[in-house]
Amino acid sequence: MKTLHRVFGYAIVAVAIAYIIFAAPHIVAAQSHTVINAGHLVDVENGRILTGQQILVTDGHISEVGPRVAAPDGAQRIDLSDSYVMPGLIDAHTHLALQEMDGSDIDDHGSYYYASLIEDTSMRVAQGTMLARAMLEAGFVWVRDTGNNGLYGDVTLRRAIEGGWIPGPNMVTAGRMIAPFGGQFQMNPEKPDLGEPEYFYADSHTEIIRAVRENVHYGATFIKLIIDNQPYIYSVDDVRVAVEEAHDMGVKVMAHAASDEGIRNAVLGGVDSIEHGFNPSDETLELMADRGTYLVGTDFPASRLGETRYWSNVERNKRAHAIGVPMAFGSDVVYYEEGKTRGEQTIGFLFSYVDAELPNAHILRMATMHAADLLGANSGRLEAGRNADIIAMPANPLDDVSALYGVSFVMKDGHVYKEGGQFRWDIPTKLNNPRRKQPRGNMLRQR
Ligand SMILES: [Zn+2]
Repeated sequence: MKTLHRVFGYAIVAVAIAYIIFAAPHIVAAQSHTVINAGHLVDVENGRILTGQQILVTDGHISEVGPRVAAPDGAQRIDLSDSYVMPGLIDAHTHLALQEMDGSDIDDHGSYYYASLIEDTSMRVAQGTMLARAMLEAGFVWVRDTGNNGLYGDVTLRRAIEGGWIPGPNMVTAGRMIAPFGGQFQMNPEKPDLGEPEYFYADSHTEIIRAVRENVHYGATFIKLIIDNQPYIYSVDDVRVAVEEAHDMGVKVMAHAASDEGIRNAVLGGVDSIEHGFNPSDETLELMADRGTYLVGTDFPASRLGETRYWSNVERNKRAHAIGVPMAFGSDVVYYEEGKTRGEQTIGFLFSYVDAELPNAHILRMATMHAADLLGANSGRLEAGRNADIIAMPANPLDDVSALYGVSFVMKDGHVYKEGGQFRWDIPTKLNNPRRKQPRGNMLRQR
């Protein structure tokens, strides 16, 4: 009986200790509250300005938006009463670990041979560290990074950002691009290995399944297929095999495709987005609209692309918009332009949609809520429950998209990275453990 009492006593003590260690801190931990006074709230969804609004941010999430929120005592205050406040920007097609330096030494007509030869992954992650900060500073709170990162340089960047080691946007990472033999390269038969690690060659269905699994294992959170850069292109069945394997894990799939046939195969195979999609027929665009497949246009400016190809893309944007294709903003900036950061360059890629005469509100939706939906990011809207990803600027972006060049305030996940036009980032004294292991089973989760 005595022993039983003792065991019972120990059990109570153990439960009490466990409670103190695990549960109590969560109960007593003070929530952090911030109230933003938003003089002009850009209602991106409805294309209008709401004046005199407040946003309550609680522990990194938006908890209330309205003329007067219920701010608890001691809440921090941020005054943006003179600013236009909107959801943070999202670029659905970046290459943060790829940068042509001066346009000549590694420009091999888009093959990126030289980049992969000259620069190892660690060098490219160092570049990416700079470019990630440039993106955040310009107002981009999320990016989907789409390959050409050496050997998982994008995954390293994502983990460093998630761990708080470096400032940058939240990232969705494609890892290595899965492609039929050769990828986007034209290789030399004496050196067939030069295509790797940029591309992950997979030709048979067995190889495609293996490539998807291996890529996810090493840190891909989105799969990228290269559809039609060789005479042999991925068929509908090839694409379907990859999509079923990825979707079963809760991982989405994007397809690099330029030709009408390539785009069509990818759409019929069930991908979530078409990247580039330069030459779709109206029929294929209608198929995309029916199936809800996003077009991520990646339209380089005329200064880079030449007038003919630029205006052909503008015309494609017009057709896609008229047909009702879901469109998300993605830039594909890989080159260097003197006098501009990567973030400023990226904003310049919005103007192909201005030239296509899409409404400014629609262009803002493409770079916020639509891109968020494509990425599966809990971002892109200023509404309760979303991550507090908020930017502000002095001019009205609904009047002129150029206003985005003036982003003077950036909040990501409730943390302020830019205020009064000044970027600020303190070395954190509390680090998160960057996730080394992918979650088990289905990865579909709110980002
Ligand atoms: Zn790209």
